[in-house]
This record gives sequence, C-alpha cells and structure tokens, in this order.
Amino acid sequence: MKFNDALKDIKIYEAGKPIELVVREFGIAPENVVKLASNENPKGCSPKVVKAIADNAHRAFLYPDDSFYELKDALAKRFNVQDENIIIGAGSDQVLEFISRALLTENDSVLMSKVTFAMYEIYAKQMGAKIIRTSSYEHKVDEFIEAYHKQKEQEEKPKIVYICTPNNPTGDATSKEDVLKIIDAVDKDTMVVVDGAYMEYAAAKDEKYRIEPNDIMGFDNVIYLGTFSKAYGLGGMRVGYGIGNAPMIKELYKMRPPFNISTLSLVAAIEACKDEEFVEESIALHAGQIGRYEVFAKENGFEYIESYTNFITYLFPDSMNSTEISDRLFKEGVIIRNLASYGMNAVRITIGTVKQNDRFFEMFKGVVT
Ligand SMILES: *Cc1c(COP(=O)(O)O)cnc(C)c1O
Repeated sequence: MKFNDALKDIKIYEAGKPIELVVREFGIAPENVVKLASNENPKGCSPKVVKAIADNAHRAFLYPDDSFYELKDALAKRFNVQDENIIIGAGSDQVLEFISRALLTENDSVLMSKVTFAMYEIYAKQMGAKIIRTSSYEHKVDEFIEAYHKQKEQEEKPKIVYICTPNNPTGDATSKEDVLKIIDAVDKDTMVVVDGAYMEYAAAKDEKYRIEPNDIMGFDNVIYLGTFSKAYGLGGMRVGYGIGNAPMIKELYKMRPPFNISTLSLVAAIEACKDEEFVEESIALHAGQIGRYEVFAKENGFEYIESYTNFITYLFPDSMNSTEISDRLFKEGVIIRNLASYGMNAVRITIGTVKQNDRFFEMFKGVVT
C-alpha cells in the first residue's frame, strides 16, 4: 500500500497517558491514580451538566440538531457575536483541521512558535505544507514578523500563522496588544489563528492578556478558537468552536461532516454555558493552588515558566532528567507530561485539586531524592 508522501514526515500525536494504562500496567487502583497530564479540569464538570447528560441519555439514538442552534445561540450571546460567526467542532481540534484542509496545499507554508500545540504541525503536514518556526518558545512579535517577511521575500509567504495564547505546553501568554501587532503585520491573504483554549485562565489572571472574539471580528483573515475541554471541564465530550467573520465561517463549513458532535455532547455544552459560576469556581481553585507549584520549584532548585493556564511547566537543570522523572512518577501512579519530545528538559503538570497536588509534591520528592 502506498500512502500519501505527506504522511512520511508526520509523528503521531502523543496524548497524555490515560488512567487506564497505569491501572493495567502497575495494578494501581484507579482512585489512587493522580492524572495531571492532559489539562483537564480537576473539579470535573458542572453537576448541572452531569444531570443534563443523564436526563438526556435516552436520546442517544437521535442525531443531534445539526444546526447546533441552541449552542451557537448561547455562544453568540456570551461573546456578543452572531450565530453566523460561529462554527462548532469536535473539540477546537476539529476546527483546526477544517482550517488546514480549507487553506493548505503542498505548496504552502505555515508559521508558528518554536514550541507550541503539536496539532498545528500535524494538520498542516497532512496537507503537505511546510512548517516554519520562530526561534523562541514564547510568541515574540519581532520574531513572528521577521520570519513572516523572510518567507515572503523567498516567495513562500506563510498561508497560516498560529498564535496560541496562552501557549500549550509552556503556559506563557501573548498580550492582546502583541497579538494585534502580529495581525497587523501580515497580509490579508494569510490566515491568523488565535487559539484561546486556555483564555479563561489568562483573562482571569491579567486583563492585558484577555482576547475576546470581538477583538478580531474586524479582520477578514483572523479566526478565534475556544473549547469546552479545559475550564469548562468537558474534554471527554469533544466540543470546541471557531469564531470569525461570516464569509470565512461559511467556507469552513464546507469541510464539516454532518453531526460532527454527538447528541449528548451538544446537551453538555449547552448546559455548561448556563453555569458560568462553575467556571469561576474552577478558576478560583486553580488560582489558590498554582502558587504552591511555584514555591515548590524554588524550594527544589529548578525554574518554572510563569503560567497563564491551568498547568505549569517546570524547566529542569541538566542534573535532572524529565524523562526519568516522569517515568518514575508514572510507576507511582502520578501522570504528568514529559516535554522531551518538544526538545525541552521540562515537564508540564496540570494543577490539580488540593489532594492531588499534595500527592504530587510528596511523590516528586520521593523520586527525585
Ligand atoms: C486542548 C487544546 C485545544 C483543543 O482541545 P479540544 O479538546 O480539541 O477542544 C486546542 N488548542 C490547545 C492549545 C489546547 O491545549
């Protein structure tokens, strides 16, 4: 079988390890596994969402309302945009895929920061596009603009520029002012993707990082992405969205398969929109806990990146090895994300509940000393 040449260069996405794997491999009881690897909400999701899913379970045989009318309406009200500005995806991941398929060919290139969300590269490479990266893991405006112009001079102007703010897996954020500078510097036939998967956390921490879909609606070539997977605690339901001007959204709709989120996912997302208090509580729990991780890093002699997300990235000195540390924690039932595959001697840890964090600190001390 001959697969597309484009596939040769694609590394399969390495997802955070599931609880089931620890249970199977080491016989640790599921309730003793601490999973801090996939940036899920440690509070779970809103109890109102749980109830709505249960109340609607009997409707599983029905396809969902394919217009997603009620969900779009809730999002339109929340963000003060129109229904026609919104496209729903099975996670914002699927919207990234629509964008890639709608825009890229093997003659195109895309621009992103040195260390950022791995799926940008995978979706772009599926289309045969070339990946250009800046030299810093942070989104430095000058580096983005310089790389863009350099590519343009070589007649390889990037077709898509990805801005992940706050950035995964590093946790740093780009201010609204800097995002607008990048948008301003690129030509109108380059799409700028502003991925706000963790925006709820950044906006709560510091207003200058808050980017609302309305901030980019005036541009025909910019799309804002959001998700229910992080602050809303619905990673398992797979619901995300893209927001942009109506003609662009209409084009992206051509990429969408029918019924692309499930009947129960739709119910869950609609209900989640009605419980903003749950999101506020989640952010408050997080804000109360993240400082402990900063203190812990200082006490144990390594650096961390200041985080605007629901996780923190620890940067280890040469005397500590991120692969060894994450493997040893894994055997103890504590799952964190090793960043060695991103070329960093670092780990990413989702901030958990008080109890989960206690256990992380205890186990970490155990494996490191
Ligand atoms: C989690 C995440 C997403 C999307 O997740 P979905 O579950 O597919 O909605 C998108 N971008 C970044 C940076 C993420 O971390």
